[in-house]
Amino acid sequence: MSDMNPFKIAQQQLDEAAKKLGLDPATHELLRWPMREYHFTIPVKMDNGATRIFHGYRVQYNNARGPTKGGIRWHPDETIDTVRALAAWMTWKCAAVNIPLGGGKGGIVCNPKELSEGEKERLARGYIRAVGKELGVHRDVPAPDVYTTPQIMAWMMDEYETIVGHSHPGMITGKPLPLGGSEGRGDATARGGVYCVREAAKKLKIDAGKASYAIQGFGNAGQFAATLHKEILGGGKLVAVSDSRGGVICKNGIDAQAIVKYKLETGKVEGFPGTSPISNSDLLELDVDILYPSALEGVITSANANNIKAKISCELANGPTTPEADAILHNKGILVLPDFMANAGGVTVSYFEQVQNTYNYYWSLADVHQQLDRRMTDAFDAVYNTREKARVHMRLAAYMVAVTRVAEACKLRGWV
Ligand code: GLU
Repeated sequence: MSDMNPFKIAQQQLDEAAKKLGLDPATHELLRWPMREYHFTIPVKMDNGATRIFHGYRVQYNNARGPTKGGIRWHPDETIDTVRALAAWMTWKCAAVNIPLGGGKGGIVCNPKELSEGEKERLARGYIRAVGKELGVHRDVPAPDVYTTPQIMAWMMDEYETIVGHSHPGMITGKPLPLGGSEGRGDATARGGVYCVREAAKKLKIDAGKASYAIQGFGNAGQFAATLHKEILGGGKLVAVSDSRGGVICKNGIDAQAIVKYKLETGKVEGFPGTSPISNSDLLELDVDILYPSALEGVITSANANNIKAKISCELANGPTTPEADAILHNKGILVLPDFMANAGGVTVSYFEQVQNTYNYYWSLADVHQQLDRRMTDAFDAVYNTREKARVHMRLAAYMVAVTRVAEACKLRGWV
């Protein structure tokens, strides 16, 4: 059953950690549920003159450690349970990298590929009109996620500032640079993941610069991972890439920069010169050293986990592996770098963006990279050491680190 519903999966993962930690029943129950959530409709005037009603959500999962933080996803399959799960994972993510923020998430059920720029702008502004009064730098701070962009963040900030009547750039992150965005936010999710791969490769004594790697999902995180893997690890062979339309493989290696350019120009990876087609599911089972699941949740399940051959799975997507699959991968000796640690680079630089907005003083790219590296490396070390000490799989270790921190904040506040 947990193979099906992401929120049930998130609860099941927490239950496992609560048991291992001996968490008291009240704290456990509190952390199993969002503290509050909003469901709303967003009427949008479409280009053809008709009005369409979209459904939106914002879940504020837990704010014990600070204002809730997390992206807004635009996806045709969005449901309240996917948003709840993602908001829970944001709570653990911010705690894992030890930034003073809680967890939240938003979503709109829509297919952005079918919307014009004008329709997207009206939808973004409508979202803020519906829920903006619940947002703000001290309450809840959105950011980009699947199919949302810096431009969408700019429209949302503008709508918010128009409503409140003053400048308030820290109400949202992932903004374009001229509107108070941070240097280094664009590639931060992938960069943080590659820093984790670097640390994991040291532990496993893998020469990351010579390792082969494959990327499932070629949105923001996947595209940057393709090039950053080589840049940060000093080499490596990219053998396969896929997106929602299909994948491509070349055993001799794919030019990472060229395929990113091709994707940006054509909107797909299919047909990239010198490659043969491969399906998303076959890509996951390739015999590569490092796999980057970078698309959506629920792609590595009990049905295919036994066939996964990578030595390291670096989860740039949120929720790609089900609990049943986790156990299988662990027993096979595959080191999983769990989503809420491996992809925490995005929210970490979002946090830097908020800090810079508050100070109205902006850092250099080198400063951002250095601070991000420190946070990611510390998070990896804390999780890896817990794994060794408690003899558990990496995701459970990450949960133990994060849940301990959130539970402590709840206790100090006198909630439990
Ligand atoms: N949507 C990203 C995530 O899942 C970033 C969140 C943020 O920057 O607040 O981590």
